[in-house]
Amino acid sequence: MTDARLPSHIKRMQIEADGDSRRWFPETADNLPFMVLAMCGEAGELANIVKKVARGDMSLRDAKTRMAACMEVTDVFTYLLDIAELLNFDLEKAYYVKRAENQRRFGTGAGGGTAGQNGSVLPGTSSNAGGKA
Ligand SMILES: [Mg+2]
Repeated sequence: MTDARLPSHIKRMQIEADGDSRRWFPETADNLPFMVLAMCGEAGELANIVKKVARGDMSLRDAKTRMAACMEVTDVFTYLLDIAELLNFDLEKAYYVKRAENQRRFGTGAGGGTAGQNGSVLPGTSSNAGGKA
C-alpha cells in the first residue's frame, strides 16, 4: 500500500529529468512549447522506424532495430517526464485517475486489472481528473 501523500516513483523520475534538463539545457528547461515540440520530434523518430518496419525495410526481430525503437520511446518518455514536471503534476497519479475514468467510460473488459488509485494529481488539491484521453 502506498501513501497517496508521497510523491510517486514517476514523480521522482519527473524531478530527476527536470534536474537533468536544467543542468544540461538550462536555456530550454523552462520552455514548455520547446519541450512539447521536442517530444513530438522524438515521436516522429519512432514513427520513422515504425514506417520502415511497416514497409519491410526494417524488422523488429532485428535487435538493433528493436533497440532503436525502444530508445525513441524512451526519448518520448523523458520529454513527457519533463513536461509533467513543468506542469507541476504527478503523472503516475494522473494516470490512475485517467485510467479509472476510462474504466467507467469503456468498462474494465475481460481482464479487469487493478482498480488503480484515485487521489490528488495537482499539489494542494483534493482531486483532479483531467480531460479526454
Ligand atoms: Mg531520439
